[in-house]
Amino acid sequence: MDYSPYFNPEFELLDRGQIEALQLKRLQDTMAHCYHGSPFYRKRLDSIGVKPESIKTLDDLRRIPFTTKQDLRDTYPFGIASVPLDQCVRLHSSSGTTGNPTVVLHSAKDLHEWANALARSLWMVGCRPEDVFQNTSGYGMFTGGLGFQYAAELLGMLTVPAGAGNTLRQLKFFTDFGTTVVHAIPSYAARLYEVMCQQGIDPRRDTKLKIMAIGAEPHSEDTRKRIEDMLGVKAYNSFGMSEMCGPGVAFECKEQNGMHIWEDYYIVEIVDPDTLEPVPEGEVGELVLTTLNREAMPLLRYRTRDLTRILPGKCPCGREHKRLDRMKGRSDDMMILKGVNIFPIQIETILAQYKELASDYLITLDTFEDNDGMTVEVELSDRANVDDYAALQNLNKDITRALRDEILITPKVKLVPKGSLPRSEGKAVRVKDLRKKY
Ligand code: ADP
Ligand code: ZN
Repeated sequence: MDYSPYFNPEFELLDRGQIEALQLKRLQDTMAHCYHGSPFYRKRLDSIGVKPESIKTLDDLRRIPFTTKQDLRDTYPFGIASVPLDQCVRLHSSSGTTGNPTVVLHSAKDLHEWANALARSLWMVGCRPEDVFQNTSGYGMFTGGLGFQYAAELLGMLTVPAGAGNTLRQLKFFTDFGTTVVHAIPSYAARLYEVMCQQGIDPRRDTKLKIMAIGAEPHSEDTRKRIEDMLGVKAYNSFGMSEMCGPGVAFECKEQNGMHIWEDYYIVEIVDPDTLEPVPEGEVGELVLTTLNREAMPLLRYRTRDLTRILPGKCPCGREHKRLDRMKGRSDDMMILKGVNIFPIQIETILAQYKELASDYLITLDTFEDNDGMTVEVELSDRANVDDYAALQNLNKDITRALRDEILITPKVKLVPKGSLPRSEGKAVRVKDLRKKY
């Protein structure tokens, strides 16, 4: 069938001027809604004398105070809401990767808009009603489950709500139902391939897989390429977080060069996490988002703690919604070792360049005789010759040197057999900090 390349042409094709005009209107509405509906926001805005009428231009956004994860915790569970609870139909809570969970409330309209933003994203990368969509996310509080479910249904695909884990069953569904589109976190995509190999399944020959949405955890360009090579798919980076609904905040288009953030739904700022001032265009900083059409729980200038930058220039796909670069990590998963700031993704980027390595790794920070150090354990792939001791030693030396050049510290590298590192059901655990705290 002949379809339009756009799911929401009236929003996807807005030019910069139109996007900004819509944003100003929606920001003014959101401010009025928060001020009149949420005692939390009213008190905060009154304390600095900012009223909804104070917002006359988009630059006035900077007069609004930031909202933080701590605010969500302090008002746990429902204290930030801008509508009474009887207008809410669902709550989600973040997976709590970095502390206590926080609650996010949704009205029926919020859920519809969320599904729409993600359906638009899936359509953008070629998903169509003829496709069979299988979701490998857990269907609980984690927004990757229900979020993708409703979006895929809205788009009109046949959905297979497989849920998390049980890899053999996932593979059976792929072949029995002719799955063409899969949503998986990147660490699970690698796991799917591992089990396919064990079962003698060749994804290109035995399945119809063609599109994959990968997201929810930071991963490198090499990891994406590896997933594409292994599974014979096109893999698109999907970004979201519970506080902003979930997946569907930003998504790569077919260019695979940055994730379009849907600016009819969000205003994006990139700020220096220390000074909270905007960083110069194109530089890395903390992503700050303001929701533009949320009913139950709008968030004003929410500090996501994710570090990224806005890619300069226009995307050849024609959409003028800004593009976010890959997440560099979050300000709170940065490790500080001997005074050096290190992100797990820097290490992953190096490891992913070696064909002899598989994708699972674990970074352990520990104290040896009062000296802090780092150990990087990484699994060998099928391409490594595990019987050739000298070759393994050279490989080890090579990786150690490459890591030192990147992070300026010499880690201890351990090459371990495939399958020996612990697997997690949800997001992969990449760092263990066992250092002595003085
Ligand atoms: P938690 O904050 O408890 O992990 P969420 O499930 O809401 O809860 O996770 C959202 C976070 O996941 C984001 O703030 C970001 O750090 C990370 N994330 C989501 N998508 C991506 C992606 N495509 N690339 C990198 N990190 C991502
Ligand atoms: Zn594009």
